[in-house]
Amino acid sequence: MKPVVALVGRPNVGKSTLFNRLTQTRDAIVADFAGLTRDRHYGNGRLGKHEFIVIDTGGFEPDAGSGIYKEMAKQTRQAVAEADVVIFVVDAREGLSAQDHDIANELRRLGKPCVLAANKAEGMHDGTKLVDFYELGFGDVHGVSAAHGQGMRDLVELALEPLNLPDPDDESEEDEANKPI
Ligand code: GDP
Ligand code: MG
Repeated sequence: MKPVVALVGRPNVGKSTLFNRLTQTRDAIVADFAGLTRDRHYGNGRLGKHEFIVIDTGGFEPDAGSGIYKEMAKQTRQAVAEADVVIFVVDAREGLSAQDHDIANELRRLGKPCVLAANKAEGMHDGTKLVDFYELGFGDVHGVSAAHGQGMRDLVELALEPLNLPDPDDESEEDEANKPI
């Protein structure tokens, strides 16, 4: 089974761009228009030796009371439920927002392992804009740029590492599992 990685964050932080980068497709709709990807969206990701399934989500507004936002939040919760690990995406350029805090609390409640990615961090060499995100309580903040493909390999490795997956190059574990008792 391939591990499943869900991309979660408020609208417009670059989740769909990250999805496209990780799946090397343009399947997800990328737009300046907040909340365009309203559904869950699955793709096959591959980075180096890692193969995984990526779920793009439409954005997450835990307090959204009605209509499309409520549906998006529901879809996102389902995506988190299906995932082995969540990449929580925030916007390094806009900085920390109240909505990010709400999402952080929701993710804590859902209890999935999370990796925090501060997207749009291209050209931010000193990382000072990223320190605020430590407040979210998800440990290290990983500056990435989905649009420019920066930090992708580290991000995927960090996301998959805690899952203790067998090394795909190392067939011995599988052989071991298939051995007659
Ligand atoms: P989503 O709503 O979270 O899925 O965000 P999108 O992927 O649709 O992206 C929202 C906007 O941010 C688009 O205009 C993207 O081109 C832009 N964007 C995405 N990733 C990056 C990035 O790494 N750097 C910059 N500067 N812009 C980005
Ligand atoms: Mg999107």
